[in-house]
Amino acid sequence: MGRYILHCDLNNFYASVESLFDPSIRNKAVVVVGDEEKRHGIVLAKNYIAKEYGIKTGDTVWEARQKCGEELVCKTARFDLYLYVSRLVKSIYREYSSRVESFGIDEAWIDISHLASSDNEAVAIADNIRSRVIAEVGLTISVGVSFNKVFAKLGSDMKKPNATTLISKSNFQDLVWKLPVEELLYVGRATKKKFERSNIVTIGDLAVADIKYLKLTLGKVGESLWKFARGLDDSVVSHIKDSEKIKSFGNSTTCPIDLQDNAQVKSVIYMLAESVAERMRERGMYGTTVSMWVKDVDLVSFERQATLSTPTNVSSDIGRMAYKLFLEHYNWSKDVRAVGVRISGLCQGVVQCDIFHNMEDLDRNQKLESTIENLRSRFGYNIIRRGDIMSNELLSTLNPTSETHIIHPIGFFKAK
Ligand SMILES: [Mg+2]
Repeated sequence: MGRYILHCDLNNFYASVESLFDPSIRNKAVVVVGDEEKRHGIVLAKNYIAKEYGIKTGDTVWEARQKCGEELVCKTARFDLYLYVSRLVKSIYREYSSRVESFGIDEAWIDISHLASSDNEAVAIADNIRSRVIAEVGLTISVGVSFNKVFAKLGSDMKKPNATTLISKSNFQDLVWKLPVEELLYVGRATKKKFERSNIVTIGDLAVADIKYLKLTLGKVGESLWKFARGLDDSVVSHIKDSEKIKSFGNSTTCPIDLQDNAQVKSVIYMLAESVAERMRERGMYGTTVSMWVKDVDLVSFERQATLSTPTNVSSDIGRMAYKLFLEHYNWSKDVRAVGVRISGLCQGVVQCDIFHNMEDLDRNQKLESTIENLRSRFGYNIIRRGDIMSNELLSTLNPTSETHIIHPIGFFKAK
């Protein structure tokens, strides 16, 4: 029995949603721009017609108009709406599998191994999902069908819009190996440069490279990427337990050394925030109330909390608020022994309108942090560490995701 994994990507998501709700702009060049005041009208997304005019994400509205002229349609981003539509689409995915893993607002992996026993069956399911999303939501998706997540993601990029691409065990060498190596998930700019120095330009070059040499130059990452290029990615699509009712996510740790200054506390808070955010995203949940708990060397402890203006599940938001609370409330009469971070006020997916004005940051941070999580789950927690943690040897031994450090909220925070 083989594995069958889909990667579904909504095409030109923001611009498509705008056209969905305003049919009069469907055959025009459309760009979606961020908050005019805050972002000076930067293009966040565009449709295919705008792309043909050479308009790029990150252009100013002024530049976009230079390229396209007066017929350009400019829409201000409505992230509440995009999140709502994203949820509708993902609820269709969930009818096929309990293993649906979001990758940002517009992408998801679906494990359909239990439904398909051949390539043809898997492609038929992908086509079925594609036509349902068109019929029920009115949007097109590109689907990659493969036997692992990395190739499924590549597949969804190959044919757009509204297409299914199969990357099978028998055709992947023809389809994948000619692609530039940076198209492989987790090959960032730094890794690409290292590959370039070794004359590895395509994914195929990587697949046939000398594994001993890769291990030497890139360590464990080199070995894993080599495996991905050969179709040997066996990571699972995360499972979402919808039935679980969770009221809060928290984590805390007793530090290997007593903390003596703000910088050390900040490092630990952000590390805890990362593990909290990861667990939230696993379940697709957002929260608004951040609590910070601290215990000094005399075992005196207190907790403070504050509410964010917008729901989040990214560690930078959680960490920033928790650290702010610490700065406001800790007077440093004693060193710090233990720290905790918790978030409550939870909601699943989209909430009320109008509060997601910084959704583009949220989505970008989610993709970034999901990437870090995936790297860690594949290569070990310490593959990526916060820069400030690395400067402190003892603190760098902390791993908030190891069992000994995960302390569930009820144990550490007094019930209210
Ligand atoms: Mg997309």
